[in-house]
Amino acid sequence: MNKQHVIVIGSSMAGLLTARILSDHFKNVTVLERDSFTDAPESRKGVPQGRHLHGLLATGGELLDHYFPKFRDELVAQGAVSGDMGETMQWYMDGGYRMKFNWGRQGVSMSRPLIEYTVRKRVMSIPNVKIITNVNVKALISTSDHGRVVGVQFEQRQVDNAPQSLNADLVVDCTGRGSATSKWLEAMGFAKPNENKVEINVGYATCTYRRRPDQKLQLYLITPAAPQEKRMGVLFPIEGDRWIVSMGGLLGDHCPEDPQGFLEFARNLPAPDIYNLLKDAEPLSDIISHKYPANLRRHYEQLTRFPEGYLVLGDAVCSFNPIYGQGMTSAIMQADALNGLITKARSLDGLWRPFFKAAAKVVDMPWQLAVTTDFAYPEVKGAKPTGADFINSYVAKVHRASHNDPVVYAAFLSCMNLFAPPSSLFKPNVLFRVLRDHWQRDNTSRVIQTVNNPANQPSAVQPSA
Ligand SMILES: Cc1cc2nc3c(=O)[nH]c(=O)nc-3n(C[C@H](O)[C@H](O)[C@H](O)COP(=O)(O)OP(=O)(O)OC[C@H]3O[C@@H](n4cnc5c(N)ncnc54)[C@H](O)[C@@H]3O)c2cc1C
Repeated sequence: MNKQHVIVIGSSMAGLLTARILSDHFKNVTVLERDSFTDAPESRKGVPQGRHLHGLLATGGELLDHYFPKFRDELVAQGAVSGDMGETMQWYMDGGYRMKFNWGRQGVSMSRPLIEYTVRKRVMSIPNVKIITNVNVKALISTSDHGRVVGVQFEQRQVDNAPQSLNADLVVDCTGRGSATSKWLEAMGFAKPNENKVEINVGYATCTYRRRPDQKLQLYLITPAAPQEKRMGVLFPIEGDRWIVSMGGLLGDHCPEDPQGFLEFARNLPAPDIYNLLKDAEPLSDIISHKYPANLRRHYEQLTRFPEGYLVLGDAVCSFNPIYGQGMTSAIMQADALNGLITKARSLDGLWRPFFKAAAKVVDMPWQLAVTTDFAYPEVKGAKPTGADFINSYVAKVHRASHNDPVVYAAFLSCMNLFAPPSSLFKPNVLFRVLRDHWQRDNTSRVIQTVNNPANQPSAVQPSA
């Protein structure tokens, strides 16, 4: 198999992980990135979402430790905050706080620029990987019959913008949601992948604040009970003794960018924790916002014809409602799936077929979780998964049971962190506890209603004649 040179387009999370993995299989890896970097964790134009809070799921963290040994320790050494995910999350949902317990898996909380910077430094230290910045990839180069991609055409910004080309045995598109692959495929005479859009109209606003040494290191989450609530707020401790808070809502219930409106939004969240912390906190940044119109999945796995020597990975395949914090982990898991396949493959020819199947399998779970949950709102538009209403009604009971049942909460955390499929929430021991909690609540609320019903109040004592 010819594995002399691979080109990865885009050096965000998907591109960097892909470069790391392919450096084990190819003689040379070239990453082409439109932006430029400094040697510091900074947000950049090509990743505008990087200024907003980014949670890293435990699966993603564990895979990062696998590909970059002691990765999470390196984050912590730079000021990131880590702790057991069951103990450090102060999470309000569905009328109460989820209980705290030792789940046994570590979470790490840092800014998005820090995680990307730390991955990038590790990738740049791999001898056979080269990252070229200020390079805008404009087109693919293919054989005359278009059956094989053999390189890319690009413009080197800040030089002369003159078109240049680079050849490779494999090209991987990691350019994110805005990927031009559909357009490039059509230009080469291939069908573009079917797109599945689930419209949610999410609007975020984010600000960072000074964190005082006396403040408890917790992750605060206030998430909506659908369909009556649409707003959420998340506040995490990050490096540099800061808090980062992102607040927003679905279906147009967006968080304003002006300081007064921002604080008012926090005050109107279903629980007071974030407001209480923000009202006296010192802001360290402007408030910035981001609109996210729709979950978007491109079904490459359904294509029957595709050029050899070409793959697509990361948000370019699937971009999820950011509220669920799945995007980086999905990209890491897709890159991990590629590692498994390329280790076993005897040829790069035909690799696209098993790879897109494997990527679809990775994406299925977070996609199902995200869009099923989104469809708890009747206004959400798109292809509704079968059984979504039934699942949502059951998962609402899971949320309530996790206020006081560690077995149910552990099952939910495993599912949310992509260790276990949503079906695991229906395992008999979880199902029993969820239904028991539901019946107990139902009975308690029936007793309260009975006691509060005036017809059932004892009549006033009549004075004796
Ligand atoms: C508001 C918001 C909040 C989010 N929060 C979370 C979260 O909490 N947790 C989580 O896991 N995920 C979150 N995500 C998703 C996460 O940001 C992405 O899943 C993650 O960045 C992986 O994306 P990617 O690497 O595939 O693409 P991107 O991050 O979009 O990167 C694409 C890269 O390609 C480069 N590029 C683009 N076109 C070209 C070109 N023609 N030539 C050269 N380079 C090019 C860009 O400059 C960029 O570096 C959030 C997303 C949004 C929008």
